[in-house]
Amino acid sequence: MTEIQSTKTQPDCDVVVVGSGFAGIYALWQARQRGLSVKGFERGSDVGGTWYWNAYPGARCDVESYNYAYFFDNDIVRDWDWSDACAGQNEIQRYLRFVAERCDVLKDISFNTKVLAARYDEDSGLWSVQTSVGDTVLCRYTILAIGALSDPKAPDIEGVDDFAGEAYFTSSWPKDGSVDLRGKRVGVIGTGSSGIQVIPEIAKLAAEVTVFQRTANYVAPTSAGPMDQQLVSALRADPQATRRAFRETYGGHTPMGMGDERFLELDAAGRERALRRAWDGKYIGLAFRDAYLPEANAAISDFIRQRMQEQVEDPWTAEHLVPWDHPYGGKRPCQSDVYLQTFNQLHVRLIALPETPIERIVAEGIKTSAETIPLDVIIYATGFDAISGPVLAIDISGLSGKSMKDAWADGPVNYLGTMVHGFPNLFLPSSAMSPSVLSNMATLAEQQIDFIFDTIEWLDQHGRPLLHPLPASQDHWRKETLRYAERRPGALTTKSWYSGANIVGKPRLFMVYCGGFKRYNETCYGEIENDFPGYELLESRRKSDRVRVSK
Ligand code: NAP
Repeated sequence: MTEIQSTKTQPDCDVVVVGSGFAGIYALWQARQRGLSVKGFERGSDVGGTWYWNAYPGARCDVESYNYAYFFDNDIVRDWDWSDACAGQNEIQRYLRFVAERCDVLKDISFNTKVLAARYDEDSGLWSVQTSVGDTVLCRYTILAIGALSDPKAPDIEGVDDFAGEAYFTSSWPKDGSVDLRGKRVGVIGTGSSGIQVIPEIAKLAAEVTVFQRTANYVAPTSAGPMDQQLVSALRADPQATRRAFRETYGGHTPMGMGDERFLELDAAGRERALRRAWDGKYIGLAFRDAYLPEANAAISDFIRQRMQEQVEDPWTAEHLVPWDHPYGGKRPCQSDVYLQTFNQLHVRLIALPETPIERIVAEGIKTSAETIPLDVIIYATGFDAISGPVLAIDISGLSGKSMKDAWADGPVNYLGTMVHGFPNLFLPSSAMSPSVLSNMATLAEQQIDFIFDTIEWLDQHGRPLLHPLPASQDHWRKETLRYAERRPGALTTKSWYSGANIVGKPRLFMVYCGGFKRYNETCYGEIENDFPGYELLESRRKSDRVRVSK
């Protein structure tokens, strides 16, 4: 437990916001809009969050740019033109910088500053937030806008430090252009979304590429390419109507392409026709109106496997690049038009780890059970301690000094994906049990930050009590999360980071609410409309003043 010493009794600011990705930037702006003083902390040297760190070659969002954007401000919507239907990392980071400048929030952020600890003080009802540069800031509300995929998984392979060559992580790729892979022998570990995007780019430069694959993933065509200008104009015509409409959908975005026929009502030829149409239309996961049914999902999975195999010339490689162990959607599906064909190049080789596992990393390369593969560079595309990891990376203690690590010893618990019993006035957007990574994260960032600031406003209007959810609300929410997960093919049977299965020793718990954005939003606002029946209101022993600011 980090010791935080402070003799202060009055807050330095009303709100501390940690992180400056989609949620953090919007939270800083919202605080100012509502006349609250705010301080932001960001461990990177610029805004962007996940889009700051994951600067590996080929990094691109597979949610369409016109969905994956803010809609709270009409001018921002109309003044930014995306160059591609699925923007690349650099463009998204520039966009976030543009929004931060427009919102004038850069002045509120301390960059290169990591938040190490946050402690709740029961006497004052304030949070002490301690940073890596030695500051301790007292505030009334703490918002951890730290993202779900921001805590890279430490390599769990023996001998990592023995390697004599260069090593890079996709999750913290150097941004200074110093990585030069030309003519080198490069090994890549990991074939999730990051691996699948970076491998084709590496193959353009490296002399040899060896891909170490533990689990194959579904790879469907990408939506990247020219924007549908008609659609963009329609969304821009009335951004606030678009914003409201997004919140009425399941995924928090403009209605997606979807098959209009039901799997159960089609014969074999009709199913094949619907699947082909969906593949070409880039909505294969929603080929049928009843795509959520296990039998429809099995047909979709089989169809994708066939299309994947057709793209790879070598039969052994084709067979091994296809996921046989889990249904489509059990893990996060990937998109690429070039990944599979990359293995048709003579200098690219697949190592199937279930057959020849890595024994250890050695000075000259990677030793599998069959051979030692000499390498100049190893790239780890090995993922993240997702969702709960970033929260637990901060030393947090709440009522009676109870730590978040203890509260979450059996996996994360919270209510509505934003607050935890015993941690009053601490907000955790994009953490566990919210629609998070199974929704449009940009829409979710706006929705959760709106909900959090509407909650703060309610508290201010009601004499500023402190708020935390009831244990019964958390139990109910965990059950709801599991109830919806049970209906999602593969959710509870696949080893994935959705349920913590990628981290040795992490409690297994499905951490994403899949009841849909609309239901989630309505449940959140039902709490405000009914004066927070799922929460407990507390009084601090000593009232602290609000810190008044001019906007
Ligand atoms: P990931 O999906 O967790 O993939 C990590 C990969 O590393 C998996 O193939 C995993 O194998 C492998 N791996 C981990 N430890 C290993 C070990 N010790 N030995 C061998 N292989 C190992 O991580 P990610 O690719 O960074 O993606 C994470 C998430 O970020 C995505 O699911 C997505 O939500 C988001 N993302 C999105 C985009 C996009 O929008 N296009 C791009 C990148 C990332 P196992 O599967 O067997 O564990």
